[in-house]
Amino acid sequence: MNVNNQIIPFNKPFVVGKELFYIAQAVMNGGIAGDGQFTRLCQEWLEVNLGCPRALLTHSCTAALEMAAILADIGPGDEVIMPSFTFVSTANAFVLRGAVPVFVDVREDTLNLDERLIEAAITEKTKAIVAVHYAGQPCDMAALLHLCDKHGLILIEDAAQAILAREKDRALGTFGHLGCLSFHETKNVISGEGGALLINDPKLIERAEIIWQKGTNRKAFSRGEVSKYTWVDVGSSFLPSELTAAFLYAQLEQGESINVHRRALYESYYHQLEPLEADGCLTLPCAPGGKPANAHIFYILMRSNEARGELIAFLRERGIYAVFHYVPLHDSPAGLRYARSVGQLPVTQEVSASLLRLPLYSDMTIEQVTEVCEAIFQFFAGTQKA
Ligand SMILES: *Cc1c(COP(=O)(O)O)cnc(C)c1O
Repeated sequence: MNVNNQIIPFNKPFVVGKELFYIAQAVMNGGIAGDGQFTRLCQEWLEVNLGCPRALLTHSCTAALEMAAILADIGPGDEVIMPSFTFVSTANAFVLRGAVPVFVDVREDTLNLDERLIEAAITEKTKAIVAVHYAGQPCDMAALLHLCDKHGLILIEDAAQAILAREKDRALGTFGHLGCLSFHETKNVISGEGGALLINDPKLIERAEIIWQKGTNRKAFSRGEVSKYTWVDVGSSFLPSELTAAFLYAQLEQGESINVHRRALYESYYHQLEPLEADGCLTLPCAPGGKPANAHIFYILMRSNEARGELIAFLRERGIYAVFHYVPLHDSPAGLRYARSVGQLPVTQEVSASLLRLPLYSDMTIEQVTEVCEAIFQFFAGTQKA
């Protein structure tokens, strides 16, 4: 237990405003399937506040990535360049279409796709690049847009962690042809399970609506644009129910204030731990000036895998839950079967062995951040004596 005898979990889902009120309203609206009032409110909110021509809610970011793979016309044998240091859905969505993920190493600073390594990975079969904005920090979008333009590739952003994060005043998820968001309960803005597809290329909007509605023209039919409602393309059931959308709308309304608080927690971690970085005990995340975009994750890099394991155990004894990720995709069982890598991915290997995520959730307090930092200081004081 820590000093206050309270557990500090790694993550905690939370209600920030009118979630339950909106759910009641959705029930009273009469229909709670998808594409109702709250789905439309959420989509308009995303279109206005992020700045994209069309947003469609999905039941997860995984689903949004799967829609993106269909919309990008990814087929058997096509290659899709992406990092190995990411969540499985980034790769799975394309493997489901028969494509081959091609893993490229990440940058040492942002832990995002290293744009300098991409050109060497491009072949005649390359169809798309997936940019994962790790921890909500932006990939080098100017470089990626340039590469996609030059080689005629589709740019898909896995912006699962990047809600309301911006790069030069433009929201992440709105740079590529398509962007994918997550509202899973571990993210900043949540609805239990949930996601959205941002369709930034207007040419893809009509087909996106069809794929979203199980391959039918139901959307055009409900707008009175066609007289028959029928099967016109491939598709699936990608929509969330109105209950999910109602919960999400309340969270979106508080999205900016959620991020303001998370940034304060992040900056507190950053400044309290700076002396340990100066002593060479650990490395802090690279957000310029300690100012993160949306403070989705606060991580530290330990000096070894062993030290990471020891710190996790030390914190756990004090009721503090810190976790690590990712097990890199390139040497996972499915990664070996379905994908290939360009080179040895040394940064990915190193970071996945040493990265530790500290507790960060939206109703965490600065005092709790201080408790976690004090425990980390104690850990290093102990290891230096030993
Ligand atoms: C969370 C996450 C996903 C998956 O999101 P779901 O909404 O749970 O499907 C995909 N990619 C990245 C990078 C993520 O962090």
